[in-house]
Amino acid sequence: MPPTPAISDVEDLRVYDRSLVEINGTSYFLATKEASGPKMVGVQGDSGDLAGAQPGPGGITLFPLTPGNAAALRKRLPWLAPVPLGLKTSAGFGDRLGMATPGHVHALWQLPDKGDAIGPIFAQQSVRENTRTGRTPQQVVDEATWGLFQEGWKVPWGADADHLKTTDVTGQFVDAGYTFFTIDPGDQVDDSAQTAPASALEERVRSLPWETLEDSLQDLEARYLNTSFAIEGPAQVFDREILWRAAAKYGAAIDHTVAMSRHLASAMGDRLFDLEISVDETDSTTSLAEHFYIASEMNRLGVDWVSLAPRFIGRFEKGVDYIGDLDEFSREFSQHAALARQLGPYKLSLHSGSDKFGVYRIAAKLTGRGSLLSRGPLVHLKTAGTSYLEALRTIAEVDPGLFREILSYARERYEEDRATYHVSARLEKVAEPDSLDDMELSGLLDEFDARQVLHVTFGSVLDRYGERLKSTLREHEESHYGHLQSHFVRHLAPFVG
Ligand SMILES: [Zn+2]
Repeated sequence: MPPTPAISDVEDLRVYDRSLVEINGTSYFLATKEASGPKMVGVQGDSGDLAGAQPGPGGITLFPLTPGNAAALRKRLPWLAPVPLGLKTSAGFGDRLGMATPGHVHALWQLPDKGDAIGPIFAQQSVRENTRTGRTPQQVVDEATWGLFQEGWKVPWGADADHLKTTDVTGQFVDAGYTFFTIDPGDQVDDSAQTAPASALEERVRSLPWETLEDSLQDLEARYLNTSFAIEGPAQVFDREILWRAAAKYGAAIDHTVAMSRHLASAMGDRLFDLEISVDETDSTTSLAEHFYIASEMNRLGVDWVSLAPRFIGRFEKGVDYIGDLDEFSREFSQHAALARQLGPYKLSLHSGSDKFGVYRIAAKLTGRGSLLSRGPLVHLKTAGTSYLEALRTIAEVDPGLFREILSYARERYEEDRATYHVSARLEKVAEPDSLDDMELSGLLDEFDARQVLHVTFGSVLDRYGERLKSTLREHEESHYGHLQSHFVRHLAPFVG
């Protein structure tokens, strides 16, 4: 007897129709008992190890959205668990509120192929973001799980433990089922080697951790000096100064990356995972010679990675378009892409990748002639706070009073909260909340300075307004999803077709 039509029609139950799935004679779905009441898992049939049952209408049992029930449901509906995505073109959706996944899904569905060409990383948060949002790695995965369940998403997806800097923080992500780990050895990168006088380099190079690098200065020089690395365009040659600068700048970072990746591999045991290396948050640009050095050394030391985030030329600031010369970016990026094919293949990862509408087509085109292993461009697009800004856009439209309070508090917090972010917004360019009509408020989400001020103050704002913000979004979730959908279609479409 097919239960499907009956469930949608049960009185006093609002069912998310797309969530409804039947497996081995049991039906599962997401529902609420009243409009904007708490979401619950509905089960008709054998509810197995789901816990906290409440009798619902129509012979249905309802369960709360707890971590235990998320785990139980992932076992029963295995597509709800994240998996590694390998070299597939991919996009990361940082969702700081844990409410945006349905909007991300809607955006993917708008693309040709229903988004099949893009491997989504629906769960992605760094330790820094977890601290500021007060969320745990497990919560981030679970909230993505519920969002996917709500929408009936069944295609492989990933979970990114973003910007891991030390081995002691990895365990909680491993335990929570993450499948993609971003190692950030930025603290070990010596930016000053970029501009240090040549005479100051020798001491730095000699003091590298040669033993754990399984190397010596002599061997390093034998491998690189006077060899040219063939990328498209004029061949580049390593002379001693270029090599020493690269080693002084990135040698300790490579050492740290190797230690981190071995630690992760042993913690993951026989579970497969994707590894990304990111040096995007350092002060100085990663040159082509440095890229060649980093990737060659990681290859030599047996690191197996799917994507690399160099620090690209120009400025990738939070929440706004690329700042810099796009022709210059394009020339450099094409060489980075050639190196990524030659030394990998691996994907190039665009961090702080949201809102860089000027670079997407360039990046897709230049990484698009990739390998047999990947159908699409060898690129990973990583976005974080831009979904939060779409949440604020929703708030500006549906609750102008709350938005004014948030804006005013963000203005207060900006100078302090901006410290760890690449932003250049100036407070005096952001309108005072009371100088604008209600109708004008959402327009702030299209302004450079206001976007950055709102973007980097999320931790403070969530501390003070988190509950109100979330309950307002719950009441207006279709509008929230709608904003996310149109925003992300603009991000993703350039990478498809
Ligand atoms: Zn980053």
